[in-house]
Amino acid sequence: MTKILEPAKELNISGSFDTVVVGGGFAGVAAALAAARGGNKVLLCERVFMLGGLGTAGLVTIYLPLCDGRGHQVSFGIAEELLKVSIQDGYEDRYPKPWLEGGTLEEKAAQRYLVRYNAAACAIAYEKLLLDEGVKILYGTTVCDTIVEDGVITHLIVENKSGRSAIACGNVIDCSGDADVARFAGEETAQYGRGNILAAWYYHTDEEGNKLQMLGFSDVNIEKGSKRVGENEAMVNKRRYAGLEAEEITDFVISSHRSTYNHYLLGKPLSNTHMLTSIATIPQVRMTRGLKGDYWMTREDNHKYMEDSVGMFSDWHGKGDGSVYEVPFRALHGSKIKNLAAAGRTIAADDMMWDLTRVIPVCSVTGEAAGTAAALAKNFTDVDIKSLQKKLEDNGVMLHKNWEVE
Ligand SMILES: Cc1cc2nc3c(=O)[nH]c(=O)nc-3n(C[C@H](O)[C@H](O)[C@H](O)COP(=O)(O)OP(=O)(O)OC[C@H]3O[C@@H](n4cnc5c(N)ncnc54)[C@H](O)[C@@H]3O)c2cc1C
Repeated sequence: MTKILEPAKELNISGSFDTVVVGGGFAGVAAALAAARGGNKVLLCERVFMLGGLGTAGLVTIYLPLCDGRGHQVSFGIAEELLKVSIQDGYEDRYPKPWLEGGTLEEKAAQRYLVRYNAAACAIAYEKLLLDEGVKILYGTTVCDTIVEDGVITHLIVENKSGRSAIACGNVIDCSGDADVARFAGEETAQYGRGNILAAWYYHTDEEGNKLQMLGFSDVNIEKGSKRVGENEAMVNKRRYAGLEAEEITDFVISSHRSTYNHYLLGKPLSNTHMLTSIATIPQVRMTRGLKGDYWMTREDNHKYMEDSVGMFSDWHGKGDGSVYEVPFRALHGSKIKNLAAAGRTIAADDMMWDLTRVIPVCSVTGEAAGTAAALAKNFTDVDIKSLQKKLEDNGVMLHKNWEVE
């Protein structure tokens, strides 16, 4: 590739914040909320014009379980708050009655604590939640570089309708889903080795109303031989996408649109009962790049006690097998860039573990942990773990399980 030297130019400093959260998916919403509640002046930069990321603009409208499948709740705090807010104006077709209306252990074991929500209503509700807590939101704002001095990010470079400017920051939480900030700043990152299968989840109407079509499953569902893999034949064992380069991600989106067309529109004209109602407005890639972190989570961590646990999550698959993972704070930051933490699908985990850590409840758990830490110390490497854990527990987070494993 031939190169050109971009002339240096002065930038306006368009703001100064204690904490800047990059990306407004579920991780970013949780992080901004926690940092603001901790007393910080918080900015959330989001490149599209709504909150929720893959969980709204990406049409992934299933808030996977907060429980272990054996009747025990595992994820608490903001993870549970965001689940409840996502259905405050009504839910789609899953309502976890035993969990929300006081069921027995047996009833809870029989129905996992998950919901399906309306993407648009959820995005609007989260926006209000953040504004009410004093978070400043800048939409249409892409963070495209960092200025780093002595291992600390002093400014983020952003581009938006006003042009290019710098934002001064005390600390930064990378919730971009792709560890963009970590890469710009020179923190250690890792790329997902297996690549993403094509996905084309879309909404459509039929006689029963507006419905989610889940076209394109995860690797694990395919490997487990899910009976719905047949319906997804067109997506399976085809090209894999890393999801990190402009041309490749454009190919992904175009193929996704084409799959939706072939699946829903080909040969059947639109009508009142046959309407394509929404397609995703951000690419539906599951795993791209993550932090290397000071701890690398693996499936071996199941039921492992973590001294620096900042919350828990379960295995989301099926009825649940009782698995419980504690998230070590070390998986949320590296040691090169002191004032940078990651939350959401970019926390440090290996390829197999990523399939568990990438889902919405874990994004909310890790967002809350990073946001709470951001309000306790400027540098994440200086956070006093006991103080962080106390603050999280005071806010209702359970750090270690208090039941016997069957
Ligand atoms: C096809 C598919 C099906 C899935 N199914 C489920 C499911 O059923 N249930 C479930 O719980 N999870 C599911 N997941 C996973 C889950 O949806 C996501 O992993 C999770 O929502 C990620 O949240 P996040 O906040 O970490 O990142 P994202 O949702 O990716 O949010 C990142 C945000 O950052 C913004 N951004 C990115 N770069 C920048 C930048 N440089 N500057 C500013 N903003 C930036 C993006 O626009 C985006 O809004 C699925 C994922 C896919 C792709």
